[in-house]
Amino acid sequence: MPLTECVSQLPHAPGVYIFHGDSSLPLYIGKSVDIRSRVMSHLRNPDEERMLAQTRHITCMETAGEIGALLLESHLIKTHSPLFNQRLRRVKQLFSIQLSTEAQACVLKIMDGRQVQHGITPGLYGLFSSLHAANQKLHSLAAQHRLCMQLLGLEKTTSRGCFGWQTKQCAGACVGAEPRMAHDQRLLDALQALQVHTWPFAGAIHLVERRGDWVQKHRIQHWAYQGTSCNRQTTHTIQVMPTHTFDADAYQILVKPLLLNQVEIEPLHASS
Ligand SMILES: [Zn+2]
Repeated sequence: MPLTECVSQLPHAPGVYIFHGDSSLPLYIGKSVDIRSRVMSHLRNPDEERMLAQTRHITCMETAGEIGALLLESHLIKTHSPLFNQRLRRVKQLFSIQLSTEAQACVLKIMDGRQVQHGITPGLYGLFSSLHAANQKLHSLAAQHRLCMQLLGLEKTTSRGCFGWQTKQCAGACVGAEPRMAHDQRLLDALQALQVHTWPFAGAIHLVERRGDWVQKHRIQHWAYQGTSCNRQTTHTIQVMPTHTFDADAYQILVKPLLLNQVEIEPLHASS
């Protein structure tokens, strides 16, 4: 079937679409609130010629809403690693900045997913794919907010103060030129936007999306997507391995809608 004919059979509806080539592995997986329009724009994009030349047909999976499309796309890309998907590759280890208090002063450490439980451990900031990336973020926050590299644990402590104090970048908390409390308050403010929110429910929930009389329920626990059930016999239920493993992509998709109460939620029993 020519591609243009494939496209004419796609719905103007939300969901995930898949470009297939000769092998059984998909070439590309994407999502949209309007599958057909989005696929047509791929076909018109000269930058995607190489992928289109290999495409034999295009299929799609409709969803009731946009969140379902995002969750499904992320899950399918991780499962199949399509050749032309650059984003959303599986990250082996997640790193975060952990903030704790010792002797009334803030202490920072960079932790990985073996040392802390993302989504459960409080006081975590930022989701980084490497130790280096977490360190870089701290360095840039220090520069931006005149924080002290020694107090952030990025430099060895000396009596002369940190390197930033000598170059006027640090406001001087290391040498007593600024109260420690003022420094730590700036640090807290700087980290605020990076906060990794802990799971706000007692157990798993269903995030419910509706389109017409179609209802899809996405099961989520600890920010991990565990699958979708729906009330339509003809539409398959999406089974994801039931996992409690924190997933940074699912977290990014879900954190705003769940915390800002923008979606319909059904709590499930804490034990389920
Ligand atoms: Zn300093």
